[in-house]
Amino acid sequence: MTTKYQAIKGVKDILPGEVEKWQFMEKTAREVFELCGFSEIRIPIFEKEMYTFPDRSGDSLTLRPEGTASVVRAYVEHNLYNPPSVVKLYYMGPMFRCERPQAGRYRQFYQIGAEVFGTENPEIDADVIGMLMRYFERLGLKELELQINSLGCDECRPKFREALITFLKGKKSLLCEDCQKRFERNPLRIFDCKSANCHEATKGAPTIEDYRCDNCKNHFNSTLNYLDKLNIPYVKNPKLVRGLDYYTKTAFEIISKGLGAQNAIAGGGRYDKLVEEFGGPPTPAFGFAIGVDRTAPLIQPSVLSPQPSAPHVFIAALGEKADLKTFELINVLRQNGIRVERDYEGSSLKSQLRKANKFGVKYTLIIGDNELDKGKAVLKDMSESKQEEVDISKIAEILIEKSSRQSLP
Ligand code: AMP
Repeated sequence: MTTKYQAIKGVKDILPGEVEKWQFMEKTAREVFELCGFSEIRIPIFEKEMYTFPDRSGDSLTLRPEGTASVVRAYVEHNLYNPPSVVKLYYMGPMFRCERPQAGRYRQFYQIGAEVFGTENPEIDADVIGMLMRYFERLGLKELELQINSLGCDECRPKFREALITFLKGKKSLLCEDCQKRFERNPLRIFDCKSANCHEATKGAPTIEDYRCDNCKNHFNSTLNYLDKLNIPYVKNPKLVRGLDYYTKTAFEIISKGLGAQNAIAGGGRYDKLVEEFGGPPTPAFGFAIGVDRTAPLIQPSVLSPQPSAPHVFIAALGEKADLKTFELINVLRQNGIRVERDYEGSSLKSQLRKANKFGVKYTLIIGDNELDKGKAVLKDMSESKQEEVDISKIAEILIEKSSRQSLP
């Protein structure tokens, strides 16, 4: 059915039923990351390059395509360089990329990410990947594969780049349009292309493995050793490259074997030069981002935190005075932490009781104008079909008392 207004291509609504998984991902991220010493950072949705448009005053604005560059910008802008040790930050929120929409690839999508600033130590690479794997474990995800590579540094990567260009030169016409453009700018990304022709063209190409300098080799080996110590299995993938070219040394992706073509649910790596490029002091760094849109559907409902309990009480008001009393009472009950539902249509008692049943409440408070004059109302226990007269002024206390008795073992 086409409705009058629809969400635009490449964006979607997250509705109740699905949103619980998103909330679970966010809540678990806070728990797992904060335990590892990360603090949240909230970064603006606008940055300076990408999904760009002029605002009303003609300034060019850009919706952020990812979080790392924004966190680095914030880190440099606010001089966050002086921690007792490293600086650990995490973020969550929407990102925007003007890509061709397809299953698992949207124009507005959500990421949860984390960044560590201030150390080159490969222990951090393994430690942060370990945190990410523990996080996915807490979400109950199975069949994940960690693919890892080291992309080298300023010293060794340029040599590899040259060798790759030389290898691909004769095959340039076989490459897709995008990769022909990438050829000069970032030839490593041709490894990342899904087109069969490009895949074919890179067969037998040199890989970074043949070109890593001793420093990069050592760093990579140590990272892998630390992963072994954490019992984290990995697959070395010398063709793994990242979409953005600021990565140095470690690069990794987490693949969900159950997904189709867009099967990476998280990716990240080391970016030792980016802080300097943003005008900060030399500061090695490491981070990752999780794709929430791709991950949430993999979560089994059984691992979600207990659902919010059904509203505890339904108030059935019969009459005008009762209606006004209900309006006040709902506020009082909510202030006491009691979930309340009501009918807004002035329906009959029978129809209100039916609604109360639909909400699945434990109690219904029936307020009629006559009882109200005596300060009384009827409290009906929906599961036991019992009812009793109660003082309206004491209703919050009575419900709290009853629910605490109920939750005793
Ligand atoms: P990236 O740093 O680009 O690899 O992004 C990290 C993760 O975000 C990926 O592994 C995906 O799970 C997710 N992601 C990236 N782009 C999109 C997109 N257009 N739509 C949905 N998820 C995305």
